[in-house]
Amino acid sequence: MKIKKNLLMILALYISASPVWAGSNKIKIVTTTSTFASMAKEIAGDRADIYFIASPSRDIHFISPTPRDVMKLKKADLFIHAGLDLESWRGPLLDAVGRLDLMWPTGERQIDVSNGISLLEIPASLSRAQGDIHAYGNPHYVVDPANALIVSRNIQEGLSRFYTEYEVEFQKNEKDFSEKLQKKMQDWDKRMLPYHGYWIVTYHRSWTYLAKRFGLEILGQLEPKPGIPPTSKHLAGLMKEMKEKKAKVIIKESYNESRTANHVAQETGAVVVDLAQSVGESKEAPDYIQMMELNISRLENAFKKGS
Ligand SMILES: [Zn+2]
Repeated sequence: MKIKKNLLMILALYISASPVWAGSNKIKIVTTTSTFASMAKEIAGDRADIYFIASPSRDIHFISPTPRDVMKLKKADLFIHAGLDLESWRGPLLDAVGRLDLMWPTGERQIDVSNGISLLEIPASLSRAQGDIHAYGNPHYVVDPANALIVSRNIQEGLSRFYTEYEVEFQKNEKDFSEKLQKKMQDWDKRMLPYHGYWIVTYHRSWTYLAKRFGLEILGQLEPKPGIPPTSKHLAGLMKEMKEKKAKVIIKESYNESRTANHVAQETGAVVVDLAQSVGESKEAPDYIQMMELNISRLENAFKKGS
């Protein structure tokens, strides 16, 4: 951790002298994920310049922040992040930035969007026994649209707290977004209803909230523990159970390797489906609502094919 922090600080010194927020007179927001950036854009509209750190085509747990990220954060007005340990690289990054007001959990200019979310899979004691990540509970809550409503409220309240002159505008934008999303949620609930009680397998524990929302049962993961690669012993047990319980759909992210999922699918007659965990992970997921629409359509197709 220390070496990583020092390296980031040294590299930051060498970064180009050009201003990192070139000429911006807007609110400067840094978010960890592309999804939070997209939602912040919904709320802030043209009032903010928004920069996100993690490429949506990479596993959010294992990002290496760059000197540019450090420079952006040094000059940012607000920092929006997932809380918990979704971004396990967030601590070293903030150490390199060195601003107390952005530090979790007490920094006044950081917005932890997990506030108010009912967390799932909270370990009985804070431990890394279940792998190196998810030590505070499952941090992939944003793929339940009901949680996205809470996230957008947290972003709106965080923004309004600092920029009271735009409070009414931000509240209206949040209301518009929430109404659009709630309308879509009714449609998604209806479309997923026929698949209530269906067993699924996921690569990583990143679909727990989506499964709960739509009444799907998770049989297990291809990874034995979060962040730990699959082993043949673990997969053999999982495949046996998949056959017994007729689990026909395996969900993975586009950045998970395909070989394991394809092998398991071939052995069990299941269908592999790539779902988007972040906005921009697919061209068809340019914002949150379209991302979830894509995920629901792909799940529907997978269930139809797998039955
Ligand atoms: Zn995870």
